[in-house]
Amino acid sequence: MCGFISIFGPDGTDTIHDVLSGLLAIQHRGQDAAGVVTFKDRFQAKKGLGLVREVFADKHLQRLKGPLAVGHVRYPTVGMGEDTDVQPFWLDYPVGVAMAHNGNVTNFHELRGSYFNHRHIHLASNCDLEAVLYVFADALMRRAGEGIDPGDVRAAVREVFDRVKGAYSVVGITAEGMYAFRDPFGIKPIILGKKTTPEGVWYAAASESVVLDVSGYEVVRDLAAGEMLWIGKDREPHFLQVADKPHRPCIFEYIYFARPDSFLDGTSVYEARMELGRRLAASFRTTGFHADVVVPVPESAKTAAQTMAEELGLPCREGFVKNRYVGRTFIMPNDETRRASIRAKLNPIRAEFEGKDVIILDDSIVRGNTSKQIVAIARQMGARKVYFASYSPPLLFPCLYGIDMSTKREFIARDRTPEELAREIGADHVLYQTVEEMIDAVRVAGGTPEREFCTACFAGEYPTGDITESMIASIEQDRLAAARG
Ligand code: AMP
Repeated sequence: MCGFISIFGPDGTDTIHDVLSGLLAIQHRGQDAAGVVTFKDRFQAKKGLGLVREVFADKHLQRLKGPLAVGHVRYPTVGMGEDTDVQPFWLDYPVGVAMAHNGNVTNFHELRGSYFNHRHIHLASNCDLEAVLYVFADALMRRAGEGIDPGDVRAAVREVFDRVKGAYSVVGITAEGMYAFRDPFGIKPIILGKKTTPEGVWYAAASESVVLDVSGYEVVRDLAAGEMLWIGKDREPHFLQVADKPHRPCIFEYIYFARPDSFLDGTSVYEARMELGRRLAASFRTTGFHADVVVPVPESAKTAAQTMAEELGLPCREGFVKNRYVGRTFIMPNDETRRASIRAKLNPIRAEFEGKDVIILDDSIVRGNTSKQIVAIARQMGARKVYFASYSPPLLFPCLYGIDMSTKREFIARDRTPEELAREIGADHVLYQTVEEMIDAVRVAGGTPEREFCTACFAGEYPTGDITESMIASIEQDRLAAARG
């Protein structure tokens, strides 16, 4: 899971400030590496490992000139720490094109071994974006004449759809304009915004609407599944539908990834989490257990905890204080380091636990590292009863579309009943959402009763229809090997 932004400003402007503000707004989508490529007479780039504020200094802003820019923040995944893999990527020849993406190409190894080999193209990195870039640039070069028109971009996107499998939302620039496209199932988001200043009209395409908010862009609209956008010399957005598959946006965006102040495909992430909290309150009530307080695991569970508590007539309290300067625990190489960091990251407030029956609410249960420790801390702080609640169902299947969650055997809820899970994490009871309730909550929040989602990580159904057991096994092997180091 990563974040991106692409901007086309009026002639004579520099878009780097908007790009960096945008990247900061989606830093939560990737803290492992950041990069920007701009165009003014030629491509200029700055990329590096680390947070946006660590990678970019004033001197880079002087150099990253021009009205066209694309930027990216990378989500950390085990074994993907190479700086050669940092996005965006670009080609100066045979056609100048820069690109960034969010997702995962599931046939990257096959493409590398057959299609690229056959065309004598040697990829320079292990990043699957490079495969998309070459297929796109190759097709664009064959089509484009004097200048690039929407039909040329459409043909290039068609070629990408034909050859590249998986989930990928893509944004980028050429010397003449800005493009974006969403994979045929629209698994990952892209939203387009527009603003007008005395210099002229600016367009920005990004992973989340918060990017548009922070720099004063108005929402134009989300791209549809299988749709492309080209904004060229006429400065008009050209939307063209390239594929015609059912839209299956990733539901985990609403659960964990996106910021609560973002809207994805018109649905407020905040509203979705509030509704998820309400649903869980209803199912807690059916247990007949008594509780004194709801304590969210910061940060993502805060929104749902408020409505859950409200529905149950309980206070919602900050029982854990998060040290925001401790890095992400989730992708640490082994369980021992992960456990130590969780403790360093979350410190309890005794008064919220002592002598109380506590509902602790988190967004998800994956390997159980957080839940086990949190339950243990709550008990050390004198909690009488500890009920562990998750506003999504437990994760059971690997995501092959860009979220490096875990391998199957690591999912703590796999092959365990809720009672066994409660025993395993030391809680008096474990409560989680059903897949149906989760889907319904997001539908209700968006007023979209018919909407379907990619719920592969919860339910094991992969919408692209091309995921085989052997693909899952081989990806898991790669992840295990990378984790071993
Ligand atoms: P675990 O402790 O392994 O059960 O993981 C659950 C915790 O990790 C929750 O607190 C989530 O907020 C967080 N989490 C879930 N999925 C991810 C992910 N893909 N990347 C980073 N953190 C995650």
